[in-house]
Amino acid sequence: MPDNRADTAVIGGGILGLAHALAAARRGDRVVLFERGEFAAGASIRNFGMIWAIGQQRGAIYQRALRSREIWLEIAAKSGMWAAPTGSLHLARHPDEVAVLEEFVATTPAARENGTTMITAAETAARSSVARTDGLLAALWSPTELNVDPRRAIPAVAAHLADEYGVELRFGTTVRGIDLPTVSTTAGDWKVERAFVCSGNDFETLYPEVFADSGALRCKLQMMRTGPQGPDWQLGPMLCGGLTLLHYAAFDDCVARAALRDRMDEQLPFHRENGIHVLLSQTADGRLTIGDSHAYAMTHDPFESEEVNHAVLDYLGTFAELPDPRITERWTGYYPSLRDGRTDLVVSPTPGVTVVNGVGGAGMTLSFGLAEENIGG
Ligand SMILES: Cc1cc2nc3c(=O)[nH]c(=O)nc-3n(C[C@H](O)[C@H](O)[C@H](O)COP(=O)(O)OP(=O)(O)OC[C@H]3O[C@@H](n4cnc5c(N)ncnc54)[C@H](O)[C@@H]3O)c2cc1C
Repeated sequence: MPDNRADTAVIGGGILGLAHALAAARRGDRVVLFERGEFAAGASIRNFGMIWAIGQQRGAIYQRALRSREIWLEIAAKSGMWAAPTGSLHLARHPDEVAVLEEFVATTPAARENGTTMITAAETAARSSVARTDGLLAALWSPTELNVDPRRAIPAVAAHLADEYGVELRFGTTVRGIDLPTVSTTAGDWKVERAFVCSGNDFETLYPEVFADSGALRCKLQMMRTGPQGPDWQLGPMLCGGLTLLHYAAFDDCVARAALRDRMDEQLPFHRENGIHVLLSQTADGRLTIGDSHAYAMTHDPFESEEVNHAVLDYLGTFAELPDPRITERWTGYYPSLRDGRTDLVVSPTPGVTVVNGVGGAGMTLSFGLAEENIGG
Protein backbone atom coordinates (compact mmCIF):
# COMPACT_ATOMS: atom_id res chain seq x y z
CA MET A 1 0.00 0.00 0.00
CA PRO A 2 1.36 3.43 -0.86
CA ASP A 3 3.18 5.36 1.86
CA ASN A 4 2.43 2.80 4.56
CA ARG A 5 -1.17 3.97 4.85
CA ALA A 6 -4.29 1.88 5.43
CA ASP A 7 -7.77 2.29 6.85
CA THR A 8 -7.50 -0.61 9.28
CA ALA A 9 -4.53 -2.27 10.92
CA VAL A 10 -4.87 -5.73 12.44
CA ILE A 11 -2.27 -6.96 14.89
CA GLY A 12 -1.93 -10.74 15.01
CA GLY A 13 -2.12 -13.36 12.25
CA GLY A 14 -4.05 -15.97 14.24
CA ILE A 15 -7.69 -16.73 13.52
CA LEU A 16 -9.01 -13.69 15.40
CA GLY A 17 -6.73 -11.33 13.47
CA LEU A 18 -7.57 -13.00 10.16
CA ALA A 19 -11.28 -12.82 10.93
CA HIS A 20 -11.10 -9.10 11.70
CA ALA A 21 -9.04 -8.46 8.58
CA LEU A 22 -11.67 -10.30 6.53
CA ALA A 23 -14.61 -8.39 8.01
CA ALA A 24 -12.84 -5.03 7.54
CA ALA A 25 -11.84 -5.87 3.97
CA ARG A 26 -15.36 -7.03 3.13
CA ARG A 27 -16.78 -3.67 4.10
CA GLY A 28 -14.26 -2.03 1.77
CA ASP A 29 -11.41 -0.99 4.10
CA ARG A 30 -7.79 -1.07 2.97
CA VAL A 31 -6.35 -3.48 5.53
CA VAL A 32 -2.83 -4.22 6.71
CA LEU A 33 -2.19 -7.19 9.00
CA PHE A 34 0.97 -7.46 11.12
CA GLU A 35 2.16 -10.82 12.39
CA ARG A 36 5.28 -11.00 14.50
CA GLY A 37 6.21 -14.51 13.37
CA GLU A 38 7.35 -15.51 9.90
CA PHE A 39 4.08 -17.41 10.06
CA ALA A 40 1.39 -17.53 12.73
CA ALA A 41 2.50 -20.21 15.18
CA GLY A 42 0.17 -19.61 18.13
CA ALA A 43 -3.02 -21.28 19.26
CA SER A 44 -4.55 -21.07 15.80
CA ILE A 45 -2.27 -23.71 14.27
CA ARG A 46 -2.11 -25.90 17.40
CA ASN A 47 -5.76 -26.81 17.74
CA PHE A 48 -8.07 -29.63 16.62
CA GLY A 49 -9.57 -27.66 13.76
CA MET A 50 -13.00 -28.29 15.18
CA ILE A 51 -15.65 -25.74 14.29
CA TRP A 52 -17.67 -26.96 17.23
CA ALA A 53 -21.06 -25.24 17.29
CA ILE A 54 -22.66 -27.94 19.40
CA GLY A 55 -20.56 -27.14 22.47
CA GLN A 56 -21.21 -23.40 22.56
CA GLN A 57 -23.42 -21.50 24.96
CA ARG A 58 -27.00 -21.78 23.83
CA GLY A 59 -28.52 -18.72 22.12
CA ALA A 60 -26.45 -15.94 20.57
CA ILE A 61 -23.10 -17.72 20.90
CA TYR A 62 -24.41 -20.86 19.20
CA GLN A 63 -25.71 -18.65 16.37
CA ARG A 64 -22.31 -16.94 16.19
CA ALA A 65 -20.71 -20.35 15.76
CA LEU A 66 -23.12 -21.24 12.95
CA ARG A 67 -22.32 -17.96 11.19
CA SER A 68 -18.58 -18.67 11.53
CA ARG A 69 -19.16 -22.09 10.04
CA GLU A 70 -20.81 -20.48 6.99
CA ILE A 71 -17.81 -18.20 6.51
CA TRP A 72 -15.37 -21.12 6.81
CA LEU A 73 -17.34 -22.96 4.14
CA GLU A 74 -17.39 -19.89 1.87
CA ILE A 75 -13.61 -19.53 2.15
CA ALA A 76 -13.11 -23.24 1.54
CA ALA A 77 -15.31 -23.12 -1.56
CA LYS A 78 -13.41 -20.14 -2.98
CA SER A 79 -9.88 -21.14 -1.99
CA GLY A 80 -9.95 -24.92 -2.25
CA MET A 81 -8.94 -25.22 1.41
CA TRP A 82 -9.84 -28.60 2.96
CA ALA A 83 -12.92 -28.39 5.19
CA ALA A 84 -15.05 -31.43 5.98
CA PRO A 85 -18.64 -30.91 7.21
CA THR A 86 -18.47 -34.16 9.15
CA GLY A 87 -20.73 -33.38 12.10
CA SER A 88 -19.95 -34.84 15.49
CA LEU A 89 -20.85 -37.67 17.83
CA HIS A 90 -20.95 -37.47 21.63
CA LEU A 91 -20.70 -41.11 22.69
CA ALA A 92 -22.61 -42.06 25.85
CA ARG A 93 -21.42 -45.19 27.62
CA HIS A 94 -23.05 -44.60 31.01
CA PRO A 95 -26.68 -43.81 31.93
CA ASP A 96 -25.71 -40.43 33.43
CA GLU A 97 -24.17 -39.42 30.09
CA VAL A 98 -27.34 -40.45 28.27
CA ALA A 99 -29.35 -38.39 30.76
CA VAL A 100 -27.34 -35.21 30.08
CA LEU A 101 -27.58 -35.64 26.32
CA GLU A 102 -31.30 -36.38 26.38
CA GLU A 103 -31.90 -33.33 28.57
CA PHE A 104 -29.81 -31.24 26.20
CA VAL A 105 -31.82 -32.32 23.17
CA ALA A 106 -35.13 -31.84 24.98
CA THR A 107 -34.23 -28.31 26.12
CA THR A 108 -32.40 -27.01 23.02
CA PRO A 109 -34.83 -26.38 20.16
CA ALA A 110 -32.20 -24.57 18.06
CA ALA A 111 -29.99 -27.67 18.02
CA ARG A 112 -32.98 -29.90 17.22
CA GLU A 113 -33.93 -27.63 14.32
CA ASN A 114 -30.42 -28.16 12.96
CA GLY A 115 -30.82 -31.92 13.05
CA THR A 116 -29.23 -32.73 16.41
CA THR A 117 -30.72 -35.93 17.74
CA MET A 118 -30.05 -38.99 19.89
CA ILE A 119 -29.13 -42.13 17.95
CA THR A 120 -28.63 -45.78 18.85
CA ALA A 121 -25.41 -47.79 18.94
CA ALA A 122 -26.33 -49.41 15.60
CA GLU A 123 -26.93 -45.99 14.02
CA THR A 124 -23.60 -44.82 15.46
CA ALA A 125 -21.82 -47.79 13.89
CA ALA A 126 -23.29 -46.80 10.54
CA ARG A 127 -21.84 -43.30 10.90
CA SER A 128 -18.42 -44.05 12.39
CA SER A 129 -15.94 -46.88 11.88
CA VAL A 130 -13.89 -45.61 14.82
CA ALA A 131 -16.48 -45.20 17.58
CA ARG A 132 -16.58 -48.21 19.90
CA THR A 133 -20.10 -49.56 19.90
CA ASP A 134 -19.56 -52.41 22.39
CA GLY A 135 -21.15 -51.09 25.57
CA LEU A 136 -22.35 -47.94 23.83
CA LEU A 137 -25.76 -46.89 25.16
CA ALA A 138 -26.52 -44.05 22.76
CA ALA A 139 -24.93 -41.07 21.04
CA LEU A 140 -25.76 -37.47 20.29
CA TRP A 141 -25.47 -36.89 16.55
CA SER A 142 -24.98 -33.28 15.52
CA PRO A 143 -24.58 -32.38 11.84
CA THR A 144 -23.27 -28.83 12.35
CA GLU A 145 -19.60 -29.47 13.19
CA LEU A 146 -16.94 -28.74 10.60
CA ASN A 147 -13.42 -30.19 10.55
CA VAL A 148 -10.60 -28.00 9.16
CA ASP A 149 -6.86 -28.64 9.26
CA PRO A 150 -5.42 -25.74 11.26
CA ARG A 151 -1.86 -25.89 9.95
CA ARG A 152 -3.21 -25.59 6.41
CA ALA A 153 -6.29 -23.51 7.12
CA ILE A 154 -4.57 -20.56 8.79
CA PRO A 155 -2.11 -19.95 5.92
CA ALA A 156 -4.94 -20.63 3.44
CA VAL A 157 -7.16 -17.96 5.03
CA ALA A 158 -4.25 -15.50 5.03
CA ALA A 159 -3.55 -16.18 1.34
CA HIS A 160 -7.27 -15.80 0.58
CA LEU A 161 -7.29 -12.39 2.29
CA ALA A 162 -4.39 -11.22 0.15
CA ASP A 163 -5.63 -12.71 -3.13
CA GLU A 164 -9.33 -11.97 -2.85
CA TYR A 165 -9.35 -8.70 -0.88
CA GLY A 166 -5.88 -7.20 -1.35
CA VAL A 167 -5.10 -7.36 2.37
CA GLU A 168 -1.46 -6.42 2.93
CA LEU A 169 0.18 -9.17 5.01
CA ARG A 170 3.27 -8.16 6.93
CA PHE A 171 4.79 -11.27 8.49
CA GLY A 172 7.92 -11.02 10.62
CA THR A 173 6.74 -7.61 11.81
CA THR A 174 6.07 -6.85 15.46
CA VAL A 175 3.85 -3.95 16.44
CA ARG A 176 5.63 -2.14 19.25
CA GLY A 177 3.06 0.54 20.01
CA ILE A 178 -0.06 2.28 18.75
CA ASP A 179 -0.73 6.01 18.99
CA LEU A 180 -3.29 6.61 16.27
CA PRO A 181 -2.92 7.38 13.51
CA THR A 182 0.54 5.90 14.00
CA VAL A 183 1.22 2.18 14.35
CA SER A 184 4.90 1.66 15.20
CA THR A 185 6.36 -1.58 13.95
CA THR A 186 9.77 -3.18 13.74
CA ALA A 187 9.62 -2.39 10.01
CA GLY A 188 8.66 1.29 10.28
CA ASP A 189 5.57 3.32 11.04
CA TRP A 190 2.15 3.06 9.41
CA LYS A 191 -0.70 5.59 9.41
CA VAL A 192 -4.15 4.06 9.91
CA GLU A 193 -7.59 5.15 11.09
CA ARG A 194 -8.29 2.23 13.38
CA ALA A 195 -6.63 -0.87 14.77
CA PHE A 196 -7.75 -4.26 16.03
CA VAL A 197 -5.34 -5.88 18.46
CA CYS A 198 -5.65 -9.67 18.30
CA SER A 199 -2.39 -10.57 19.99
CA GLY A 200 -3.39 -13.87 21.58
CA ASN A 201 -1.15 -14.89 24.46
CA ASP A 202 0.99 -11.77 24.38
CA PHE A 203 -0.45 -9.80 27.28
CA GLU A 204 2.65 -7.68 27.78
CA THR A 205 3.46 -5.76 24.57
CA LEU A 206 0.25 -3.90 23.71
CA TYR A 207 -2.26 -2.60 26.27
CA PRO A 208 -1.08 -4.75 29.20
CA GLU A 209 -3.58 -2.97 31.45
CA VAL A 210 -6.48 -4.44 29.44
CA PHE A 211 -5.25 -7.95 30.18
CA ALA A 212 -4.49 -7.18 33.82
CA ASP A 213 -8.06 -5.87 34.28
CA SER A 214 -9.60 -8.84 32.47
CA GLY A 215 -8.37 -11.42 34.98
CA ALA A 216 -7.31 -13.66 32.07
CA LEU A 217 -4.93 -16.53 32.69
CA ARG A 218 -3.08 -18.64 30.17
CA CYS A 219 -4.42 -22.12 29.60
CA LYS A 220 -1.87 -24.79 28.68
CA LEU A 221 -3.07 -27.84 26.72
CA GLN A 222 -1.31 -31.06 25.72
CA MET A 223 -2.02 -32.46 22.27
CA MET A 224 -1.02 -35.49 20.18
CA ARG A 225 -1.30 -36.63 16.60
CA THR A 226 -1.07 -40.00 14.85
CA GLY A 227 0.35 -40.64 11.41
CA PRO A 228 -1.96 -41.00 8.39
CA GLN A 229 -4.46 -43.79 8.93
CA GLY A 230 -4.36 -44.97 5.33
CA PRO A 231 -4.84 -43.72 1.79
CA ASP A 232 -8.09 -41.77 1.46
CA TRP A 233 -9.05 -42.81 5.00
CA GLN A 234 -11.73 -40.59 6.57
CA LEU A 235 -12.67 -40.29 10.23
CA GLY A 236 -16.20 -39.13 9.48
CA PRO A 237 -17.88 -37.42 12.45
CA MET A 238 -15.50 -35.97 15.03
CA LEU A 239 -15.80 -37.84 18.30
CA CYS A 240 -15.90 -37.23 22.02
CA GLY A 241 -17.03 -39.03 25.18
CA GLY A 242 -18.71 -38.28 28.50
CA LEU A 243 -15.94 -36.09 29.97
CA THR A 244 -16.62 -33.52 27.25
CA LEU A 245 -20.08 -32.92 28.70
CA LEU A 246 -18.37 -31.37 31.73
CA HIS A 247 -16.29 -29.06 29.58
CA TYR A 248 -18.60 -27.17 27.24
CA ALA A 249 -20.99 -24.36 28.12
CA ALA A 250 -23.77 -25.89 26.02
CA PHE A 251 -24.38 -28.39 28.83
CA ASP A 252 -24.01 -25.95 31.75
CA ASP A 253 -27.74 -25.78 32.40
CA CYS A 254 -28.39 -29.52 32.23
CA VAL A 255 -29.55 -30.58 35.68
CA ALA A 256 -28.42 -34.15 35.00
CA ARG A 257 -24.81 -33.00 34.75
CA ALA A 258 -24.34 -32.89 38.54
CA ALA A 259 -24.54 -36.68 38.83
CA LEU A 260 -22.15 -37.14 35.92
CA ARG A 261 -19.68 -34.73 37.52
CA ASP A 262 -19.84 -36.54 40.86
CA ARG A 263 -19.15 -39.89 39.20
CA MET A 264 -16.28 -38.56 37.10
CA ASP A 265 -14.72 -36.82 40.12
CA GLU A 266 -14.82 -40.14 41.95
CA GLN A 267 -13.81 -42.49 39.12
CA LEU A 268 -11.36 -40.32 37.18
CA PRO A 269 -9.77 -37.92 39.69
CA PHE A 270 -6.52 -37.56 37.72
CA HIS A 271 -8.43 -36.64 34.56
CA ARG A 272 -10.54 -34.13 36.45
CA GLU A 273 -7.55 -32.55 38.23
CA ASN A 274 -5.78 -32.08 34.91
CA GLY A 275 -8.80 -30.76 33.06
CA ILE A 276 -8.77 -33.71 30.67
CA HIS A 277 -11.55 -34.34 28.23
CA VAL A 278 -10.94 -36.13 24.98
CA LEU A 279 -11.73 -35.08 21.42
CA LEU A 280 -10.78 -36.68 18.12
CA SER A 281 -10.54 -34.90 14.77
CA GLN A 282 -8.59 -35.46 11.57
CA THR A 283 -6.20 -33.55 9.33
CA ALA A 284 -6.49 -33.12 5.57
CA ASP A 285 -4.12 -36.06 5.03
CA GLY A 286 -5.88 -38.47 7.36
CA ARG A 287 -3.89 -38.06 10.59
CA LEU A 288 -5.84 -38.00 13.83
CA THR A 289 -5.55 -35.16 16.31
CA ILE A 290 -6.07 -36.17 19.94
CA GLY A 291 -6.31 -34.13 23.13
CA ASP A 292 -6.44 -32.55 25.57
CA SER A 293 -5.73 -31.29 29.08
CA HIS A 294 -6.24 -27.85 30.63
CA ALA A 295 -3.98 -26.13 33.19
CA TYR A 296 -4.43 -22.47 34.15
CA ALA A 297 -1.69 -20.04 35.25
CA MET A 298 -0.12 -16.77 34.21
CA THR A 299 3.22 -18.48 33.52
CA HIS A 300 3.54 -22.19 32.76
CA ASP A 301 6.55 -24.45 32.89
CA PRO A 302 7.44 -25.61 29.36
CA PHE A 303 7.29 -29.33 30.13
CA GLU A 304 4.80 -31.95 28.99
CA SER A 305 3.54 -34.58 31.39
CA GLU A 306 3.62 -38.05 29.89
CA GLU A 307 1.19 -39.13 32.60
CA VAL A 308 -1.33 -36.65 31.23
CA ASN A 309 -0.80 -37.94 27.68
CA HIS A 310 -1.36 -41.51 28.89
CA ALA A 311 -4.55 -40.47 30.67
CA VAL A 312 -5.82 -38.85 27.46
CA LEU A 313 -5.06 -41.97 25.42
CA ASP A 314 -6.54 -44.29 28.06
CA TYR A 315 -9.79 -42.37 27.99
CA LEU A 316 -9.79 -42.26 24.18
CA GLY A 317 -9.54 -46.05 24.23
CA THR A 318 -12.79 -46.27 26.16
CA PHE A 319 -14.79 -44.84 23.26
CA ALA A 320 -12.73 -45.14 20.07
CA GLU A 321 -10.56 -47.69 18.31
CA LEU A 322 -8.10 -46.24 15.79
CA PRO A 323 -6.78 -48.19 12.80
CA ASP A 324 -3.21 -47.08 13.65
CA PRO A 325 -2.97 -45.48 17.10
CA ARG A 326 0.78 -44.78 17.02
CA ILE A 327 1.54 -41.22 18.09
CA THR A 328 3.89 -39.32 15.79
CA GLU A 329 3.68 -35.80 17.27
CA ARG A 330 3.11 -34.18 20.65
CA TRP A 331 2.87 -30.47 21.38
CA THR A 332 1.50 -27.93 23.80
CA GLY A 333 -0.83 -25.08 23.01
CA TYR A 334 -1.74 -22.00 25.01
CA TYR A 335 -4.66 -19.61 24.92
CA PRO A 336 -5.87 -16.78 27.12
CA SER A 337 -8.78 -17.88 29.26
CA LEU A 338 -11.28 -15.53 30.87
CA ARG A 339 -12.08 -16.92 34.26
CA ASP A 340 -15.59 -15.48 34.66
CA GLY A 341 -17.55 -17.29 31.95
CA ARG A 342 -17.33 -14.54 29.33
CA THR A 343 -16.93 -15.87 25.79
CA ASP A 344 -14.74 -13.01 24.56
CA LEU A 345 -12.93 -9.82 25.53
CA VAL A 346 -13.68 -6.81 23.34
CA VAL A 347 -12.31 -3.58 24.83
CA SER A 348 -11.50 -0.18 23.39
CA PRO A 349 -8.64 1.19 25.51
CA THR A 350 -8.39 4.35 23.40
CA PRO A 351 -10.52 5.76 20.54
CA GLY A 352 -10.04 3.81 17.32
CA VAL A 353 -8.32 0.86 18.97
CA THR A 354 -10.14 -2.36 19.82
CA VAL A 355 -8.51 -5.22 21.70
CA VAL A 356 -10.18 -8.54 20.82
CA ASN A 357 -9.16 -11.65 22.71
CA GLY A 358 -10.38 -14.20 25.23
CA VAL A 359 -12.17 -16.58 22.88
CA GLY A 360 -10.54 -19.38 24.86
CA GLY A 361 -11.01 -22.87 23.51
CA ALA A 362 -13.45 -21.79 20.81
CA GLY A 363 -11.56 -19.31 18.65
CA MET A 364 -11.78 -21.42 15.50
CA THR A 365 -15.51 -21.78 16.14
CA LEU A 366 -16.39 -18.19 17.00
CA SER A 367 -13.90 -15.74 15.46
CA PHE A 368 -15.48 -15.12 12.08
CA GLY A 369 -18.88 -14.44 13.62
CA LEU A 370 -17.43 -12.29 16.39
CA ALA A 371 -15.45 -10.19 13.89
CA GLU A 372 -18.59 -9.54 11.84
CA GLU A 373 -20.38 -8.42 14.99
CA ASN A 374 -17.47 -6.12 15.89
CA ILE A 375 -17.02 -4.62 12.43
CA GLY A 376 -20.23 -5.25 10.53
CA GLY A 377 -20.56 -7.79 7.75
C1 LIG B 1 -4.52 -27.11 21.89
C2 LIG B 1 -5.67 -26.26 21.48
C3 LIG B 1 -6.80 -26.83 20.92
C4 LIG B 1 -7.86 -26.02 20.52
N1 LIG B 1 -8.88 -26.57 19.81
C5 LIG B 1 -9.82 -25.75 19.27
C6 LIG B 1 -10.79 -26.26 18.38
O1 LIG B 1 -10.74 -27.40 17.95
N2 LIG B 1 -11.80 -25.43 17.99
C7 LIG B 1 -11.84 -24.12 18.35
O2 LIG B 1 -12.80 -23.44 18.01
N3 LIG B 1 -10.86 -23.59 19.10
C8 LIG B 1 -9.85 -24.36 19.55
N4 LIG B 1 -8.85 -23.83 20.30
C9 LIG B 1 -8.86 -22.41 20.59
C10 LIG B 1 -8.33 -21.58 19.41
O3 LIG B 1 -7.20 -22.20 18.86
C11 LIG B 1 -8.00 -20.18 19.92
O4 LIG B 1 -9.15 -19.61 20.53
C12 LIG B 1 -7.59 -19.26 18.79
O5 LIG B 1 -6.60 -19.87 17.99
C13 LIG B 1 -7.10 -17.92 19.30
O6 LIG B 1 -6.75 -17.17 18.19
P1 LIG B 1 -5.95 -15.82 18.34
O7 LIG B 1 -5.85 -15.23 16.99
O8 LIG B 1 -6.55 -15.00 19.44
O9 LIG B 1 -4.51 -16.25 18.92
P2 LIG B 1 -3.22 -16.83 18.21
O10 LIG B 1 -3.51 -17.88 17.23
O11 LIG B 1 -2.28 -17.19 19.31
O12 LIG B 1 -2.64 -15.62 17.38
C14 LIG B 1 -2.11 -14.43 17.96
C15 LIG B 1 -1.03 -13.95 17.03
O13 LIG B 1 -0.68 -12.62 17.38
C16 LIG B 1 0.72 -12.46 17.11
N5 LIG B 1 1.16 -11.28 17.87
C17 LIG B 1 1.07 -11.10 19.21
N6 LIG B 1 1.54 -9.88 19.54
C18 LIG B 1 1.92 -9.28 18.38
C19 LIG B 1 2.51 -8.00 18.07
N7 LIG B 1 2.73 -7.09 19.03
N8 LIG B 1 2.80 -7.72 16.77
C20 LIG B 1 2.56 -8.65 15.78
N9 LIG B 1 2.02 -9.86 16.03
C21 LIG B 1 1.70 -10.17 17.31
C22 LIG B 1 1.31 -13.76 17.58
O14 LIG B 1 2.57 -13.99 17.01
C23 LIG B 1 0.25 -14.77 17.15
O15 LIG B 1 0.53 -15.38 15.89
C24 LIG B 1 -7.80 -24.62 20.73
C25 LIG B 1 -6.67 -24.05 21.31
C26 LIG B 1 -5.60 -24.86 21.66
C27 LIG B 1 -4.36 -24.21 22.23
